[in-house]
Amino acid sequence: MALNYDLHAHSTASDGTLSPAELVVLAQAQGVDVLALTDHDDTAGVAEAQAAAAHCGVTLVPGVEISVSWRHQTLHVLGLAVDPDCQPLARGLATLRDYRTWRAEEIARGLAAHGIDGALAGAAAHASGQIISRTHFARFLVEHGHARDVAHVFKRFLVRGRPGYVASEWAPLEDALDWIQAAGGLAVIAHPGRYRLSSGGLRRLCGEFREMGGDGLEVISGSHLPAHNEHMARLAGQFSLLASCGSDYHGPEYAYQGLGRLQQLPAQCTPVWSDRRFQSSPSRARIDAEQLARYQQQC
Ligand code: AMP
Ligand code: MN
Ligand code: MN
Ligand code: MN
Repeated sequence: MALNYDLHAHSTASDGTLSPAELVVLAQAQGVDVLALTDHDDTAGVAEAQAAAAHCGVTLVPGVEISVSWRHQTLHVLGLAVDPDCQPLARGLATLRDYRTWRAEEIARGLAAHGIDGALAGAAAHASGQIISRTHFARFLVEHGHARDVAHVFKRFLVRGRPGYVASEWAPLEDALDWIQAAGGLAVIAHPGRYRLSSGGLRRLCGEFREMGGDGLEVISGSHLPAHNEHMARLAGQFSLLASCGSDYHGPEYAYQGLGRLQQLPAQCTPVWSDRRFQSSPSRARIDAEQLARYQQQC
């Protein structure tokens, strides 16, 4: 039987609400065979996830979702099967986290000017990892009754023209690709159907990404509409990009993204896991005996 791959998921190391070990335990319960942990701009959750996965019989692919700026657009590029200890990758991600710290202060300043105080401390209280994301601000704002749910917070407060909006300068696409390649991983454009790009813009992105040495396109995403799938499969074929699939799971509060409940990749796609680099990465797992003992109680 075909394995169940879910190659895009978040933990408390970024803006997910389950710890890395809890995420792995849930993945196993959902029938996932191969799970990639892809926190935003941080690989801090990978060691814990690997330890839990080794016990649960899930294959854990070390990953990261890198924030990128490309032609004034924010894009997300997944690094799959990366070595988290690779220095160029670790240093690059550290610069993005420093930028996030600065941006969080700017977001809080914007909200304070709008009469909402305490947002920085409030967002930080929702963040248990090293990064502060807009999601953490959104949870703070919902908690304090400024909007009824996270989606409404984004519309009202966190997007262009709104009080908590900060124009972002993330990593250049070339840099993100360099870091992923240095770390031995595969670079995949995350949720390509979600960007504000015309179909011409999306083709231009795929072409430039391929020329720079990018590897794949997330053809199936939990944050795509079903109609995106065939379009993305065609794009992957046209630009010789490998196809990936991931739920973009952030926690049980977000019911629309089922962990491990993804549609199959269309038959014409070449899956990202057919690549040699992908096959060899899980063996790099270093399991810490103490951590393993802790997760034995949870699985
Ligand atoms: P950041 O990387 O800090 O700018 O935050 C981006 C994250 O916010 C994404 O990964 C999503 O988890 C979340 N997000 C972005 N837009 C929305 C939205 N419209 N509704 C809910 N969550 C969103
Ligand atoms: Mn997120
Ligand atoms: Mn994303
Ligand atoms: Mn994501």
